[in-house]
Amino acid sequence: AMAARPKQRAADEHANKVCEQDIGEQIRNHHKQAFEYISVALRIDEDDKVHKEQAVQWYKRGIAELERGIAIEKYERDKRLQAKMITNLIMAKDRLELLVSGAVPKKRDSLTTHSSHSLPRPKHTPKKTSAAGHGGLQRSPSFIGPSSSHTQHRLSKAGNWQNCKPTTTTTPTSMSPLKKRDMKNLKNVDSKLANLILSEIIDSGSSVRFEDVAGQELAKQALQEIVILPALRPELFTGLRAPARGLLLFGPPGNGKTMLAKAVAMESNATFFNISAASLTSKYVGEGEKLVRALFAVARELQPSIIFIDEIDSLLCERREGEHDASRRLKTEFLIEFDGVQSGGDERVLVMGATNRPQELDEAVLRYCRPVWLGMSIFVLIKILWYNGNTWCMCNPCRLTEGYSGSDLTSLAKDASLGPIRELRPEQVRNMAANEVRNIRFSDFVESLKKIKKSVGPQTLDLYVRWNKDYGDTTG
Ligand code: ATP
Ligand code: MG
Repeated sequence: AMAARPKQRAADEHANKVCEQDIGEQIRNHHKQAFEYISVALRIDEDDKVHKEQAVQWYKRGIAELERGIAIEKYERDKRLQAKMITNLIMAKDRLELLVSGAVPKKRDSLTTHSSHSLPRPKHTPKKTSAAGHGGLQRSPSFIGPSSSHTQHRLSKAGNWQNCKPTTTTTPTSMSPLKKRDMKNLKNVDSKLANLILSEIIDSGSSVRFEDVAGQELAKQALQEIVILPALRPELFTGLRAPARGLLLFGPPGNGKTMLAKAVAMESNATFFNISAASLTSKYVGEGEKLVRALFAVARELQPSIIFIDEIDSLLCERREGEHDASRRLKTEFLIEFDGVQSGGDERVLVMGATNRPQELDEAVLRYCRPVWLGMSIFVLIKILWYNGNTWCMCNPCRLTEGYSGSDLTSLAKDASLGPIRELRPEQVRNMAANEVRNIRFSDFVESLKKIKKSVGPQTLDLYVRWNKDYGDTTG
């Protein structure tokens, strides 16, 4: 019960915030949806002169989404996003009008001029607490935005909401030194790759929240310090307090590493690039190196950014003799970019890796990353096993599930929850009211324990514990 009380308070505080968050989230969802629709519209509009009617439909959908988002009652923190949405709305309407009237799109000047006074994007200044930068949506304002940054033309045709043909080259005369720098960053980025990254790798938001991850308090605290708080209050995390640029979530399989990373994507303000090492090495064969380079370039462009690499061990394993040339080059390229992030001045790009095979990692990774341990957690056991719908039962079943991982426990709880159903005949189940099903009992768990075994043996676990002792943060 001791452990449950502070939890309860936290839950109440959380509930108070939820309402406000929900509204912000609604606005962001409309923006995101609009972005997706209008991207499709732009693609058709620009590339395919045949299916104009479709482009019109997509524009209309996007416009409707924007209008819905703008109509939501304004909260201080969402104002900036809504202002961007208004600008985007004007643009989309303009394009639609042009498309319908069949006029040749005007050259960029009219709209660029118009847009260049609205909301220039503060590239170098970190985005503050503004909701404009939440989760997957943040990407939209950063390159949807009617920003005057010319690099955007290179990023993506679809992302270019300005009223100009993507092929139009921009005159460098009006560029500030800052923009020149941006240009340089993206100079070597193939626009196809940039598009690939924008469409496939940027995570447009998962639904996992921090609270959904049971236990793992140490890891959550580390993530608060390194990712969430610095994103919300960048001015507090400067100098010595500057957050790490690399983070390694490690620990035995099935304890919430991937889940926690998804929660970070959801809770932080950053643009989240989610790429699995496996897809880097297989899916984009031959393109891997270029893709890595493009990935970091786009991440710098859309900062604050988090590049998340799941199963990072398969990308950055120890260098070996007789290793494939391509994979060695990929690794080298990645380490070079990673090194660039470390020395990136006030750039706000974080690389976050997850692995259940930390022993196999190249040592360089450890140099760049702060390790965050996700182990087996007793509190999880109590929570999952003994919350009965209305009471916390604090009897001590922990020993029974000692060494079970989070995913083992999930399977166990799922199996046990079927206990009350299994003792009935199918016809009974078919005809009974939902409230007639009995509660789950301890005996259900005991029964399921016979079937659902732990997936990580004690010896394996011991390896992790030892690795953690050597490399991890063991203050917890
Ligand atoms: P791997 O090392 O094999 O990639 P992982 O640590 O990434 O494992 P996840 O994929 O995050 O593990 O977890 C697998 C599933 O187990 C989750 O989808 C979730 O259902 C459950 N689970 C694991 N850990 C937790 C946790 N701490 N809280 C709640 N659910 C959990
Ligand atoms: Mg995982």
